[in-house]
Amino acid sequence: MVTDAPDIRTTCPYCGVGCGVIASRTTDGRLEVKGDPDHPANFGRLCSKGSALAETLDADGRLLQPRLHGRDANWDEALDAVASGLRAVIDAHGPDAVALYGSGQLLTEDYYVANKLMKGFIGTANMDTNSRLCMASSVAGHKRAFGSDTVPGTYEDLEQADLVVLVGSNFAWCHPVLFQRLQAAQAKRGTRIIVIDPRRTATAEAADLHLPLRPGSDVALFNGLLAHLATVGAEDTAYVAEHVAGLDDALAAAQALSVYEVAAVTGLDAITLTRFFDMVAATQRVVTVYSQGVNQSTAGTDKVNAIINCHLFTGRIGKPGMGPFSITGQPNAMGGREVGGLANQLAAHMAIDSADDRDRVQRFWQAPSMVSTPGLMAVDLFRAIDRGEVKAVWIMATNPAASLPEADAVARALEKCPLVIVSDVTDQTRTAKLADILLPAAGWGEKDGTVTNSERRISRQRPLLPPAGEARADWRIICDVARRMGFAGFDFASPAAIFREHAQLSAFENGGTRDFDIGAYGAVEDAAYDAMLPFQWPAPKDQPPGGRFFADGGFFTGDRRARMVATPVRSPVEAPSDTWPLRLNTGRIRDQWHTMTRTGQVPRLFSHLAEPFAELHPADADAAGVEDADLVTVRSPHGQVIVRALITDRQQKGSVFVPMHWTNPYASCAHADALVAGHVDPVSGQPELKHMPVAVDKVDAD
Ligand code: SF4
Repeated sequence: MVTDAPDIRTTCPYCGVGCGVIASRTTDGRLEVKGDPDHPANFGRLCSKGSALAETLDADGRLLQPRLHGRDANWDEALDAVASGLRAVIDAHGPDAVALYGSGQLLTEDYYVANKLMKGFIGTANMDTNSRLCMASSVAGHKRAFGSDTVPGTYEDLEQADLVVLVGSNFAWCHPVLFQRLQAAQAKRGTRIIVIDPRRTATAEAADLHLPLRPGSDVALFNGLLAHLATVGAEDTAYVAEHVAGLDDALAAAQALSVYEVAAVTGLDAITLTRFFDMVAATQRVVTVYSQGVNQSTAGTDKVNAIINCHLFTGRIGKPGMGPFSITGQPNAMGGREVGGLANQLAAHMAIDSADDRDRVQRFWQAPSMVSTPGLMAVDLFRAIDRGEVKAVWIMATNPAASLPEADAVARALEKCPLVIVSDVTDQTRTAKLADILLPAAGWGEKDGTVTNSERRISRQRPLLPPAGEARADWRIICDVARRMGFAGFDFASPAAIFREHAQLSAFENGGTRDFDIGAYGAVEDAAYDAMLPFQWPAPKDQPPGGRFFADGGFFTGDRRARMVATPVRSPVEAPSDTWPLRLNTGRIRDQWHTMTRTGQVPRLFSHLAEPFAELHPADADAAGVEDADLVTVRSPHGQVIVRALITDRQQKGSVFVPMHWTNPYASCAHADALVAGHVDPVSGQPELKHMPVAVDKVDAD
């Protein structure tokens, strides 16, 4: 039974849908959670993961106090050691010998002060995040097309569309509440759904049309669509003439392949292709949702632009029920982008490669050591550690020694790095076990701040409990270190104070040329911050929050025109061979989150899928002599995992799917993503996590 203690409204910490959660205290002292009926992301719905949040709150497995070289320490000792360690490396080797690697689990306020410390005061842009693995290609694609990293879509668009195309997204499992909203629209108003995915996923089962394309062939497919749209006269000529540049080159690249060649590259038959092309051509209200199957590729940025090209060509953007829509995987991937959490960004969506932006941020921060060039992106950052160029790294809320491509090499790099600092809620990750200094961080249910979801909606995360043991908020740890290093500008008393500064910077000398503006919140008082309702940016002073981007056809480029980008077809870097005959695709399952540090605590979340598996097509299983439920080894040149075979024709012949969640802190390369080579998109730096040639063998029972 629930007590009359006030309910606490907060936000789910899992996926980028950003559902509102209400926590209530029961008479026997437990916390219960339910969906917030007033939150505009979910209107009361929660998925299996969100509804199990209350079962993840106890302190089992938590890191409860700081540790220095394996011994317990107090906070003063630990913070002194971090500050003096970083200072010694900077003095001896310069600021670029220091790096910070964060996570989409950090709150915006944590990210803001981390970015300020690194890029304005230490003076290095070597600050990247696991969001590089999640949505960096979308960021790069947006910047190429719109002149800014602006997501034009809203969740309501999915309910107003007549056709929703889901590309590289198992929406039903990875963004379940948004999928429920889409299914409700499908039932109510007949919204048609097309799913483009090599696998016949739960999402594909609900679609009107499923295109099981060959992995990595999305650019050819959308180039084919653009060529078809041109052939059937679907161009919005007035819109393109007034608001778009780059048509000729983009169209020439798209028309380089005939429909039969597109069929050959994608592995789709011409009839299915034509049906897809015709459905899109004939429908004005089209939303194209894309996620990791698009982003996690060495052609990820081109895939994003190939999709956006089709929307610009038809003028289907900036209007209700239409537009390209990138959905983030992590709860605060968008918040990290807002405050410059990536190595090529500054705060408030400003760019390191813009002298004006650097000057503006430096003056606002009164920063002594402003960066002038982008820093190292995730994969390169750990390679620089391996080469000894980066000698101190601070890792927050993530586990790169298990989950980055070539993770064994990452672990070896961390082993020889002179100073590894890890802030986390647990010491049970492979990365935490390699730390010289371990800092206990507050977890979900203890943290206080904001997150931004995939539709640019900023929501509060509020504490339900005091921090476990001696755990502290990440923003506080970062500010304490900054002050110990002698830097001014880190005397924040609360997350509200950080949010105010962040909002003020977003409006500082903005002049309307930048999309991101939440200046209306620059003077928000503590009580108002605490009570803040979810709102969307832009939120400039004297205007209501939200608003539809690009409704007037004006973009954030110098000439206010969007860019269509030529996207020639490129194959994934490594092709299957006799030695490595199958394409590995990694991803999520319905009831688990990342490396299961939280969802792994909830027994009922294992009732759906209890153990790691490899989905194999029956023909591939036959060829390998594997039967259903056999143990198999999935191998690449970078390592191997042993998992259970799950033989199904949902899996495309020639491909294998392994979920990304299971890992082992004591084992070499026990994580599926660790099998993947560190090939990255040349524009976005995002690794090719959806296409790695591997071999699968039956584990010998002896
Ligand atoms: Fe949480 Fe995402 Fe599920 Fe919503 S859909 S409850 S944000 S995991």
